[in-house]
Amino acid sequence: MHEMAIASSLIEIIKEELAKHGATRLVSARVCHGKLTNIVPEALRFAFEVQTQETSMAGAELELKEISVTVACGGCGTQFTPEHPDLFYMPCPSCGREFAHEVLSGKEIYLDHLEAE
Ligand SMILES: [Zn+2]
Repeated sequence: MHEMAIASSLIEIIKEELAKHGATRLVSARVCHGKLTNIVPEALRFAFEVQTQETSMAGAELELKEISVTVACGGCGTQFTPEHPDLFYMPCPSCGREFAHEVLSGKEIYLDHLEAE
């Protein structure tokens, strides 16, 4: 379960942001996660909740937004969004090549928005 580690690095980033803006309480945080990160939203939510207990982030709303996968074909360069993304099998709609594409989006995870007071 890698959600625990992800939650803890998100919390570190949020902490820094709160300090930077002189905020003392986190209201909500929006996190974007690419489909290829295989994050289970419920697990991440749970990990966040557990790790923020009794901190200034306790009770904050964690909004999770999934980012779909876009790749550029390694053969012909066509950009497409595979229906069932899998690093080893994403057939290109133009030339049929199945793997070794360049992943343009879908692997990232980042903090998109914070609301604090
Ligand atoms: Zn192609």
